[in-house]
Amino acid sequence: MHVSRRVILLGSTGSIGESTLDVMRHMRALPDLDFELIGLGAGSRGQELIEQAREFGVDEISIADSEVAASLDFQGTMHVGPGSARELVESIAKPGDLVVAAIVGSAGIDAVLAAIDAGCDIALANKETLVAAGSIVMPRAAERGVHIIPVDSEHSAIYQCLRGSDSDREIRRIVITASGGPFRGRDRETVREATPEEALAHPTWDMGQKISIDSASMMNKALEVIEAHWLFDLPSDRIEVIVHPQSIVHSFVEYVDGSVLAQMGPPDMKTPIQYAMTWPHRMDGCSDRMDWKSLQSLVFEQLDHDVFPPVDMAREVIELGGTAGAIFNAANEVAVEAFLGGEILFGGIHDLVRQALDGIPVKQVHTINDIEEADSAARALVRERIGDMVNRPATMGEDK
Ligand code: NAD
Ligand code: MG
Repeated sequence: MHVSRRVILLGSTGSIGESTLDVMRHMRALPDLDFELIGLGAGSRGQELIEQAREFGVDEISIADSEVAASLDFQGTMHVGPGSARELVESIAKPGDLVVAAIVGSAGIDAVLAAIDAGCDIALANKETLVAAGSIVMPRAAERGVHIIPVDSEHSAIYQCLRGSDSDREIRRIVITASGGPFRGRDRETVREATPEEALAHPTWDMGQKISIDSASMMNKALEVIEAHWLFDLPSDRIEVIVHPQSIVHSFVEYVDGSVLAQMGPPDMKTPIQYAMTWPHRMDGCSDRMDWKSLQSLVFEQLDHDVFPPVDMAREVIELGGTAGAIFNAANEVAVEAFLGGEILFGGIHDLVRQALDGIPVKQVHTINDIEEADSAARALVRERIGDMVNRPATMGEDK
């Protein structure tokens, strides 16, 4: 069997983007695979983008930051500005192509929609797209007959385990595993005052800054519960979360007969990335293998919802529906930036997301404009509340 595919990679300079290129380098050496990279998109790391384009012979690229773009020397076609990833897709995507969506945040939504409209399958890492705009993205993908194949390790695990059944009615529930992040076992007060350096030090996964903070705050698990709700069409009471600090079991599917299927493997994103790219086939992988000789036990524990409230908030967001996901996601994006910039305490992330959910009326979603409006309203509210905050980090203003 020969698999051939044209690939557009959006977010190529990030953690998932670079791992995707490693997978492509590995796949070049495999006999039955012919994956051709035809487009690359990034936010701001222009020089790396150009080097990637050179290595893979790509002559159409996109870059969101126009100042960076102005300093670049590129012979091919370069789309520039906030809408550049969408423009790249609109310019080159054809039905049957694969778009790897690895932009971080709701900035990735319009390129995913353009890829669906062009008839491309999506290997989706950009979970914020589903959290904010799942009610637009999923029906549009179904209408257009394209597949959304998850890259997120937990959702890849569930996607793989779902091949153990031939009807969605046979699923009782899914159980998403969480590593617990760097603050597992800590009490509420020390977590609230954690520094960016502590929050960025993830015990098992090496990832981009935003998702690392999300993992520490448990917002990542909250986003993943909402992502799973859209991908697998399940209500919140059939999506459980369990802490598994080793990150070897990537998630479970429990069936009505009591059988539980799990997908396992060492924590390496190249495995789910490659699966999403070669699906429904499996090809020789390039990740580490399980070391069965050193594995002695698998550990599970319950999530402490008092210290980490976001998963409960995610259930609320699913129940609310409409624009709640867009509000939840955008508030978190602004709060994470503010935390990384030293403007708020770590505990301020939860507080600000809560305030956005309480302060902005949830509306029905008819078009993508409804999502964009909710996203903007949440960003504005959070920025305003940050301005009003008295409980700033101790170092703030000391040198001023
Ligand atoms: P990252 O910060 O390392 O990379 C983000 C990429 O998006 C970069 O290439 C950046 O240039 C680009 N980008 C940022 N803003 C942009 C914009 N406005 N327009 C165009 N491009 C822009 O992030 P990451 O860790 O690779 O994560 C990417 C996505 O994958 C996130 O949604 C994350 O939640 C998800 N994800 C990541 C991992 C992981 O292990 N890193 C695991 C599961 C899911
Ligand atoms: Mg994940």
